[in-house]
Amino acid sequence: MYSYENPEDRVLIVQMNSELRHAQLELLSAHCATHQLGLHYSADDLARFGRRDVLRKSAEAASALNEFYSSLEKHIPEPAATHCPVPTEEQIAQAVQWLSSCLRNGRERYLPQSHALSSQQIATFSPYFPEPLLKCIRIAELNGARVPEPEFVAQARAMGFTNLPDLPHMESLTFIDLVVFNERLTERALFHSLVHSVQIQAVGLERYAELWVRGFLRTRAHFTVRLEVHAFSLASRFARPVPERFSVEDEVLRWAADERY
Ligand SMILES: [Zn+2]
Repeated sequence: MYSYENPEDRVLIVQMNSELRHAQLELLSAHCATHQLGLHYSADDLARFGRRDVLRKSAEAASALNEFYSSLEKHIPEPAATHCPVPTEEQIAQAVQWLSSCLRNGRERYLPQSHALSSQQIATFSPYFPEPLLKCIRIAELNGARVPEPEFVAQARAMGFTNLPDLPHMESLTFIDLVVFNERLTERALFHSLVHSVQIQAVGLERYAELWVRGFLRTRAHFTVRLEVHAFSLASRFARPVPERFSVEDEVLRWAADERY
């Protein structure tokens, strides 16, 4: 068994957590895709008209995953009891302001070391995003230097915003129209971040920050914030072996108009 006391083990634990996170992202994409299926088609139609081999293999994969993670869940140590105070409207407004200034400051901070998308990247993403937006996007690759945890995070935690996302260990961060990669750029993470840029453009930075904060408070989980769910689900459609073509802007405007964020 690994031990935090052993420096070699600490490296392996970091590696293990990065693989765990990768698997979690893949699971979330699968969860989103399945959720969409359930929204579009009835269980009866899926069972009757879906290809049997695909249905069986999907069901087997889902059961195997369930078995694996349920057996792990039994062994997760109980956290020390924490109480989750409900933030007041004033505190929510404060958090919205923290988040929007964090996004503005991050953009300013990483702008000097950023570069534009290559013409090949613009070609890859132009079926999905408006070209003027792609031409404005800036990219900063930190190659492991990592975005530091913003100062307000400790205060936010004290106010009851527990389980906040761990910015230094996220694959990519979207500072308005500038995307920072803590490690190296991947197309799927870039797609996810570009969706956030479109969302910010569509609803405005302050509203985006408010939707994010309120969405987070509903379940206190980063991955269930609707702005995130949408970005994950669109990025998974992009990453399919035979990718679909669709306009992210149309999708985002539709979700915004239907108040799905
Ligand atoms: Zn995101």
